[in-house]
Amino acid sequence: MNNKQIILNLLEQNNSFYLYDKKGIEQSVKTLTQNFDGIEFLYSLKTNPNCNVVETIFKNGLGADAASVSEVLISAKNNVPKELILFSAPGKTTQDIANTIEISTLIADSLDEIHRIDSVAKQKNIVVKIGVRLNPPFTFVGNSPIPSKFGIDSDSFFSNLDELKKLEHVEITGIHVHSRSQELDEKVIENYYKKMFSLSREVVEKLGKPLEFINMGSGIGIAYADIDKPCNTEYLGNSMSKLTQQFKNEFSKTTIFIETGRFLVGKNGVYVTKVLDKKVSCGKTFVILCNTLNGFIRPSIEQLVLNYDKTQNPLPVEPLYTSKDAFQFIPLCLQDKGDQIEEVSLVGNLCTAADVVAKDITFPKLQIGDAVVITNAGSYAAVLSPMQFSSQTPPKEFFVYEDGSVK
Ligand SMILES: *Cc1c(COP(=O)(O)O)cnc(C)c1O
Repeated sequence: MNNKQIILNLLEQNNSFYLYDKKGIEQSVKTLTQNFDGIEFLYSLKTNPNCNVVETIFKNGLGADAASVSEVLISAKNNVPKELILFSAPGKTTQDIANTIEISTLIADSLDEIHRIDSVAKQKNIVVKIGVRLNPPFTFVGNSPIPSKFGIDSDSFFSNLDELKKLEHVEITGIHVHSRSQELDEKVIENYYKKMFSLSREVVEKLGKPLEFINMGSGIGIAYADIDKPCNTEYLGNSMSKLTQQFKNEFSKTTIFIETGRFLVGKNGVYVTKVLDKKVSCGKTFVILCNTLNGFIRPSIEQLVLNYDKTQNPLPVEPLYTSKDAFQFIPLCLQDKGDQIEEVSLVGNLCTAADVVAKDITFPKLQIGDAVVITNAGSYAAVLSPMQFSSQTPPKEFFVYEDGSVK
């Protein structure tokens, strides 16, 4: 296990915490930027807005996929230029628009929003370049549209385009589509990119001028469960670089963006939780850990979903539930106890029976004071967890630098 000594040191003062790894994050950034030639990446802050994580990623030259005013402000504070902060979210208020219009590139999520942006721009006496989020006429795997709360149906966008072109304070210069997260099949994503380029050509034609940017959204997933086959980013990057080059032969000034959240940080964070107590009840052994449901909720949600779904292979609901066995539990024993194993349930210290992270598993023997390290805790982890519940001391977040120093 990486950073084992650092984790042991932190356990002396902390009963539960996250640890994010700078070196790993930078390697993940490189995996994408080196394989995808001619493409700009945007970091989806909602996956993990930890200040050291965000700073590391922005220092490596990525832009921002911001989903709220706060995420725009965090990005601007990190000196990300306006052209590289793409603010896309449904339900932006007029106030949200006014607060971000001069420091980010707004991606309008509805026809009504385009008009609202136009009035805010008019009040400020400026003309703004915006993108529109489209609900495309396809999905990752299908070739027809589905109803969505996100974006504007492409049909409806095209039929309103003449009117939109007349607006005096907005100029539509880009499009954004985000159709799906956590896809591992590189061929499926490749096919999606192809469909995106043909949609973009249609937009260019109907708009009557080239686009300044096309934001392809996210999609590239990470292997959570041991049986998951990682997405082949080398193959995908290669193919995407070629598709981009072809497009740029026609439209040299268009920037191609890909958004990414979990790929950069998902596997580069762990959650560490200490064994607080241990008991046997009616023949079953319970290991009581610190802040599980209320520190890192996703393993408990997995238990909940599997409990209610009889198929044992429920569909994902990102980012709450990804798959079965999405997190690995690694024992961290302070003293060597040989190869002793036992059947246990790993549960938390909350006063609710829902606080279960693993049920009846065979596990090395743990004692009070030992710990369990949970993997894949860099993304949709700290931010998703109800840390106020039961008013316990929440887990801290630590960041380990290349030289092993910890902040
Ligand atoms: C959440 C989100 C992402 C990030 O998805 P990952 O699977 O973490 O890469 C990207 N784009 C949009 C629009 C999102 O809502």
